[in-house]
Amino acid sequence: MACYGMSYLWEHRREGRNDSAVFFACMGGNKRQDREKEEEKGLTKEDPVTCDSGGGKHKLSLFRTVGDVSKVEGHQDVVSAALLIPKEDGVITASEDRTIRVWLKRDSGQYWPSIYHTMSSPCSAMAYHHDSRRIFVGQDNGAIMEFHISEDFNKMNFVKTYPAHQNRVSAITFCLTSEWVISTGHDKCISWMCTRSGTMLGRHYFTSWASCLQYDYETQHAFVGDYSGQITLLKLEQNTCSVITTLKGHEGSITSLWWDPVQRLLFSGASDHSIIMWDIGGRKGRTLLLQGHHDKVQAICYIQLTRQLVSCSADGGIAVWNMDISREEAPQWLESDSCQKCEQPFFWNIKQMWDTKTLGLRQHHCRKCGQAVCGKCSTKRSSYPIMGFEFQVRVCDSCFESIKDEDRTSLATFHEGKHNISHMSMDISRGLMVTCGSDRIVKIWDMTPVVGCSLATGFSSR
Ligand SMILES: [Zn+2]
Ligand SMILES: [Zn+2]
Repeated sequence: MACYGMSYLWEHRREGRNDSAVFFACMGGNKRQDREKEEEKGLTKEDPVTCDSGGGKHKLSLFRTVGDVSKVEGHQDVVSAALLIPKEDGVITASEDRTIRVWLKRDSGQYWPSIYHTMSSPCSAMAYHHDSRRIFVGQDNGAIMEFHISEDFNKMNFVKTYPAHQNRVSAITFCLTSEWVISTGHDKCISWMCTRSGTMLGRHYFTSWASCLQYDYETQHAFVGDYSGQITLLKLEQNTCSVITTLKGHEGSITSLWWDPVQRLLFSGASDHSIIMWDIGGRKGRTLLLQGHHDKVQAICYIQLTRQLVSCSADGGIAVWNMDISREEAPQWLESDSCQKCEQPFFWNIKQMWDTKTLGLRQHHCRKCGQAVCGKCSTKRSSYPIMGFEFQVRVCDSCFESIKDEDRTSLATFHEGKHNISHMSMDISRGLMVTCGSDRIVKIWDMTPVVGCSLATGFSSR
């Protein structure tokens, strides 16, 4: 059943049909659009009004208080991965300082290490399987090491080393049913190895560093995000794999992926500050763009029950997106040699410039209708949350008129992480979140004020 949905998509793509274009409509990176972005950036800097509306003031008013925060301190370097131990007041951390530590909350309310293990190389990724107490730690040297953690979390025994990569391991996942450990690395490949024999089963190379990984355990499909901004969908077999399709939409490296196997949604976060939701299960190539962060999106987590997406960015911003409403797709940007409102030629349209004795204008795009417009016909800015624009973007004058005040109601809540977040993971059942920052501090958040009540009662955004 699952395979069917995916095959539909890739057939679509190959045929290059019109509706498949929609799939890749979101901000497809052509030269003209890149230039547009640069123009927009320049304009934002010069224009304090635009800058304010997109920045601090607006954002502050949206901040919500999330509950208690516990801190775990003591690492000598950045913590590259951290996870909450299910049903325990405990955290496992893997750090660039070469340590794996298991922290348990003591009666004092503070977290103290019960396991402290030093590795031969900095730790870069981690996967933990709670029922079997198996932990897989990826290292900067490309190796993955497997350990077994004791029931009381006081001991960790070495099991195996997997020569998975030639270079830094970026992501790991473990599948108990097939006994596979699947990983991606900075050697530009995905590899999958047998945990019984410790042997390499298969490998597939990409054109750039593979940065993140999600896996559908039931159908053996892997999603791999890379530094070029592409997401590759592969079907893994025992000793071989096939590339199903590539998803292109981001303009910067993919930093995080989240696959929801129930609703069959893929979320991707990127260094272009944006998130895209790829509706794989919908089979129509529908994509939604979410723009609310002002820095690289570093981690995402989708809460399927309440249909909320939690995302964290490098500037410390934490966003909780309401995905339980029918959002609209951002339009594809239209191409034109003249403004589609006032018909004045753009500056590369030499013929019309000559004919009409006018100076060519710069091309911009209205984010709401996608039309190519000149600056004069798009002087206004507006947020438009239903299309994912949580901060103000360029819209044409007629679209601006069509946006009512209630259309500007935010469909996400924004919170301040107060450290530059490099990694995040959640224990969804308890509404807990753990973030790691460039400040070497690990924070454990009670997110129930924003997601917890919703776990029982459904979404309430305010
Ligand atoms: Zn115009
Ligand atoms: Zn418009």
